[in-house]
Amino acid sequence: MNPPSPQLGANRPAIAPTGDLGVVDLSTWPKVSTKEMVDRIKIAMDHVKLPAAERLSVEEGVRKALASPNPSFYLQRLFTIITTPEDPAQKTQLMQKASAQLKADVAAANAQAKVANTSVEENDAKSASRSWTTVKGYGGKTYDVDKRDPKNVFVKIRVHATGPQAADIKKLEDAIEKTLGKAGGFTVDIEFVERDGDDVFTVGTDPTVWPNCLNWSAGTFVAAHECLHLMNVEDAYNVPGRHAANGAMPRDQRLSLFLHSFDHGYDKGRDRDSIMGHGDKPTDADVCTAVGGDASCVQQRLPPVKMGSVGLRKQ
Ligand SMILES: [Zn+2]
Repeated sequence: MNPPSPQLGANRPAIAPTGDLGVVDLSTWPKVSTKEMVDRIKIAMDHVKLPAAERLSVEEGVRKALASPNPSFYLQRLFTIITTPEDPAQKTQLMQKASAQLKADVAAANAQAKVANTSVEENDAKSASRSWTTVKGYGGKTYDVDKRDPKNVFVKIRVHATGPQAADIKKLEDAIEKTLGKAGGFTVDIEFVERDGDDVFTVGTDPTVWPNCLNWSAGTFVAAHECLHLMNVEDAYNVPGRHAANGAMPRDQRLSLFLHSFDHGYDKGRDRDSIMGHGDKPTDADVCTAVGGDASCVQQRLPPVKMGSVGLRKQ
């Protein structure tokens, strides 16, 4: 695929380069050619005076979009990223929402601690029968897994929480473990430690920054999601679809997420079921990725097929 031509000339689309690009009606996009979409993207980049580094990301995004099975979807989202400015009001809202969620989850965790056995994961991890192997996670940091029985795997991961909400996040330890444990046969023991190291993931808790695997700034659910990222599990939701117009997220971050999203296929089923998408717990595939399981791991975690429950087709 040739790189997009820098000549805009006669094919310049009918949008005023000095107008408000934010009101361009994207519903007209399915009717325009991908070439025209690329031209509009170039005009938009000039219009918002996109910094050079972000321009390079957009150009890479255009190349990836054109090589993808759905160029117009990706080109539209790219255009939206460029034309959606960072919005301080949205960011403030996000900050308040994240902090409120965290406080609510801490209150729920305090109530739960009175009735639940919060030491299950810790006792399981300490069991003398565990056989640990070390796995490299995000940024090359390590955590330990016992994956001998794919139906019943264990993870021990050390986290150093820093920043303004560190004390609160640490109170969610058991709630995060139990959220991950909803997968069944997946016991995660998070140990909060007061040091960094090759075997420690240091995470911030800054509510003014969009949550990511190194910033556990919202409540239990988000922290469980981010914790899985540390264990090499990718997002399951449609990243460009969701974040393109997210003005609370810096544009360079939206662009790097956009580019990253090409590296792993989008699977609607996983999006529906997984905590990495719109589901509420890790899927078997997520669990197997987290423990570095091989192809047979997911197969072995599937419930056994009952005899007679699947009709055999007669030839
Ligand atoms: Zn994520």
